[in-house]
Amino acid sequence: MELRDLYRDVILDHNRSPRNFGRLDPADAAAVGHNPLCGDSLSLTLRLEGDRLSELRFNGQGCAISVASASLMSEAVSGKSLPEVDALYRDVHALLTEPAHQPAAPLGKLMALGGVREFPARVKCASLCWHTLRAALDQAAGKAAAATVSTE
Ligand code: ZN
Repeated sequence: MELRDLYRDVILDHNRSPRNFGRLDPADAAAVGHNPLCGDSLSLTLRLEGDRLSELRFNGQGCAISVASASLMSEAVSGKSLPEVDALYRDVHALLTEPAHQPAAPLGKLMALGGVREFPARVKCASLCWHTLRAALDQAAGKAAAATVSTE
């Protein structure tokens, strides 16, 4: 099987059966993100334990890429320390925008998102959940009053 097909299968699988779909109540942080260009809209809730992101859920509506990306992100960040989440955020952003980027740590299934680099209009679909996560964490850290993100 070609790597390309494998990546496409990962996206299809996570779109069809999104992991960590739903809502945490109570939650330690929450944020809402919109991508007006595509109509993607998602809502994140998460729980923190010390400096660790212990649980994350997302819901909302969006295209296959935005849903698969949020699902993959939820698996990748759950249980990670906040500095590790921050490093992943930077690595995924680079994966989506810089062809020659070498990730600091193996990205595993998140590599499947690298395919959107060839479709600039879809980069915002894939990055929406990450910007929304950043907004939720900033709000939890007291750096932002409201956690709403628009990619425009
Ligand atoms: Zn989209």
